[in-house]
Formats: sequence, structure tokens, C-alpha cells
Amino acid sequence: MLSEFDLIKRYFQRARPASDRTVLGIGDDCALLAPSPGRLLAVSSDMLVEDRHFFAGADPFQLGHKSLAVNLSDLAAMGAVPLGFTLALALPAADPAWLDGFSRGLFALADAHGCELVGGDTTKGPLNICITIFGELAPGQALRRDAARIGDDIWISGTLGDARLALAGCLGEIALDADAQALAATRLHAPTPRVALGRLLAEGRLAHAALDISDGLVGDLGHILAASKVGALLDVDALPAGPVLARQAPGLRRRFTAAGGDDYELCFTAPAANREAIMAAGAQCATAVTRVGRIEAGPGLRLADGDGAPLRMQLQGWDHFSDR
Ligand code: ADP
Ligand code: MG
Repeated sequence: MLSEFDLIKRYFQRARPASDRTVLGIGDDCALLAPSPGRLLAVSSDMLVEDRHFFAGADPFQLGHKSLAVNLSDLAAMGAVPLGFTLALALPAADPAWLDGFSRGLFALADAHGCELVGGDTTKGPLNICITIFGELAPGQALRRDAARIGDDIWISGTLGDARLALAGCLGEIALDADAQALAATRLHAPTPRVALGRLLAEGRLAHAALDISDGLVGDLGHILAASKVGALLDVDALPAGPVLARQAPGLRRRFTAAGGDDYELCFTAPAANREAIMAAGAQCATAVTRVGRIEAGPGLRLADGDGAPLRMQLQGWDHFSDR
């Protein structure tokens, strides 16, 4: 049986020299990080709980990836550069096969972003994965939710809805063939945090407000509108659907792009003068960027179809947000 300390040593403590950003990593009472002089520390936590955020028996490699991906996505939405993260883990048992898969998934993504695991806590309990991530950015460059301005374009990175479609398939809400289900499921289980795009938007001062879409676009965009005290017009037919959702009926496509969930794409607002620079930034980091609406003075969110006609949609989660 693995002891708590064997477990940490075997799966989470890697033999690497201290980097210029991590003065001291795993092993002491605290990690010591060294943000660049004059930069702000960006901090965020996200917790994944079994049976709430993922199904029991979920693939550990994908869980490792997703646990860190959702945290990196928060840094991306702020325009911050990742520095490091901590991992608080409750495990029902010290299962070597699970720990091996989980840590490999976690470190594969961590290494892709040069983001080190610097500490954490490990305890026995129902499976619960909580990561706190640290990043940095220059003062004045953060992509805050309260920064949207009237007349801004609204943009979306990547595509929306395939994660929700995969969930619908898992729950038996719809029937997808096996290939389509597998393709859509990669979006549900292995989201791609848009760190490079967020950084380019912030450092180039291209965008005003941003957030990452985790609970569905319409609800999440509502947070920007509320914080910025503005309204918006959204062209639902302009929303970029994921490759699997794009082959589904228009009604489903509208519903899952506008109010899916687990997308982990960026929604950001930017002045029209920056359109070309934003397209160039997207091309530079190989991330599609699509213009889907406009920030307006009148409060609330107005949905329109491709012809600009008002669209009434019963969106899951919409009532929950609209009464704020
Ligand atoms: P403490 O005595 O402060 O509770 P622990 O004994 O829990 O410290 O942890 C020992 C070291 O291992 C600490 O540096 C801690 O940050 C690190 N650690 C514990 N659990 C994890 C984990 N799941 N991932 C990474 N580091 C961890
Ligand atoms: Mg501890």
C-alpha cells in the first residue's frame, strides 16, 4: 500500500531544477514563486467533483487534463501567462493505475504550457480534484468582465456546442453514431484552454472584456453585460458550431451553441478598429475567431437569427441568469 508521502513523491513530485519562476516547489510548507517584477499575480481555483462535474469511472488521463485545462482557461480569459499551480486531491484509495493516468494527463498539459505543479494537499475521501492556478500579467492588461464598451464587437474563439452534444449523447437525450459521439466527447473530456489567444489579446491591448465559456454562452455573456452595465445583440446563426454539432438540425445547433456548457472557449469584446489585428492574433495561435454580435447601450441580451430578425428561444439556464 502506498503511503501519502510515497504517493506524492511517486506521482506528483518531479525531479527538476528550480526554474526562475519557482524558487521552491513541492516538499516544504509552502512553495515559493517569483512573479516578474512589476507584474500582477492572477489567481484562480476550480474544483472537479465526481458525479457533479464528471461521471464515476471517468478516464483518469482525461481527468488530469481537464482538471488543469479548466484552470488554464481562467488564466486565458484574463490574458495571464501561467506560472504554476497547486493540486488538492481527495482520493477514495491510492490506486496506482488511476494515479498514473491522472498524473500523466495532468503533466502533459502542464508541460505544454510551462506551468509547474508546485504543491498541494492529499487526503482520503470522495474523489475531488481542486487546482489553484497562478499566472501573471502587466497592470492594466487584464481582460476584465467589467470592461466591455458600447459599440464593441463580440467575438468567440474556436467552436461551441460539441461538449454539450457529447453530454446529450451520454445521457441518452439524443442518439449519435459512435464516431460522432467519440469526436464530440473529446471536446467534453479534453477541452483546449485558449491561453495563447488570451495572452495575445491582452498584451496587444486588442480586447476590452473577456471570459471563458463554461456554463453556456448566453449565461456567461450575461456576466460581462451585468459587470459592464451594457446590453448586447447576439447573432445566434453566426455562432461557430463544433464539427459534430454542425451536422445536426438547426434547432439543436442554435440551442447548444447559444447555451451548451463545458465549451472553454473565450468570449471577448473589442473595438471594431481591432478586427484585422484580432484575426491576425487568431491566425498566429491557430485559433479560429468569429464575430457574433455587438455590445449595445440598451440593457439585456437580444438574440437574432442570421437575417437580423428577433429570435425567441427557450434556453436551458437562461431563466436562471435573466432574473439577475
Ligand atoms: P503539510 O504538512 O503542510 O500538510 P503535506 O504533508 O500535506 O504538507 O505535503 C507535503 C508536501 O507535498 C508539501 O510541499 C505539499 O505542497 C506537497 N503536496 C501534497 N499533496 C500534493 C499534491 N497532490 N500535489 C502536489 N504536491 C502535493
Ligand atoms: Mg497538508
